This record gives sequence, structure tokens and C-alpha cells, in this order.
Amino acid sequence: MADSLDLSSSAYKGVWGRSPPPVPTFERKGMKVLSWQDKLEQDFPNIDFITLPSTGQGWETIIRQACVKLQLLSQTFNVVFIVNQIKEKYGTLRMYVDMRCSEHDLGEYDADIIDDIAQDIVATAETSSRYICEVCGKFGQLYPGGWYIVRCKECYEEYCKQTQGGT
Ligand SMILES: [Zn+2]
Repeated sequence: MADSLDLSSSAYKGVWGRSPPPVPTFERKGMKVLSWQDKLEQDFPNIDFITLPSTGQGWETIIRQACVKLQLLSQTFNVVFIVNQIKEKYGTLRMYVDMRCSEHDLGEYDADIIDDIAQDIVATAETSSRYICEVCGKFGQLYPGGWYIVRCKECYEEYCKQTQGGT
């Protein structure tokens, strides 16, 4: 008797306990919605983005970590970093970064060394992307196939469902 009561009460909650998703604050205020790529450009004024990232947002943290280091390098040595492209290639992240500087600003430092440090920063980000889901940012792995992709288990299952459904 008690069991049947509990069951009916949980079924009742299942239907009526669900509330509609809250309206996001920016929609209520009628504000322009900035993409994560727009925010990236806004947050790193010392970095010259020729194009904004075309990757999934799962890699935002990795890209931001690289930008924090590049910005620090830029401020320390008075050089400008130009980000030509941030994209996915063969499943993992690619960042194409050039350095612009005037020799006299560098003083005793060699431009090649500073550029080497920048390329090390980029390489670290690219290596990290091998283990981070491009969609959601959780721990993932590289799945080979027709297309190489880095996904967590859940996003890979979702990807398989979509690609199978599309054919
Ligand atoms: Zn994921």
C-alpha cells in the first residue's frame, strides 16, 4: 500500500515538478550576446587576432591559457603577437602565431628566443588539445576514423548518433 502511494507521488512530480528553463539574463535585458571568440579578442588587447578561433568551445580554456602567456610575453618584451589562425586540424588544435617587434625595443634579448618561447606556448596548447573534448572541455581522447576528432565519451556517442542519423 505504501509502495503504490510512493510510486504515484513520484510520477506526479515527474510531470508537474518540471519547470521551464530560466530566460537568460542577456535576453531579458536585450543586450548584445558576445561569443566566446569575441570575448577572447576583447580580453587580450595586446594580441592581434587576424581571425577568431573556428574550433569548438571545449578548447576555450586551452586557448585562453596560451593567450595569457603570450600577453605576458608581449608586455614584458614589448612585442606584438599576431594570431593568424586558430583551428582544428587532424583532430587537434592548431594555433598559427607570428611575432612582430622592432629590434631596439628588445634590448639585450634575441628576437628568435622570444619567438621560440611563443612557439613553445603554442605547442603546449596544441598537445593539451589531444586530451580535451573539443565540444565540452571534459577529459577526452583522439578518435580516429574518417575524421580525427577529440571527444569525451558522451560527446563521441552523440557524434556517432548524429553521423549515423545523417546518412
Ligand atoms: Zn565532451
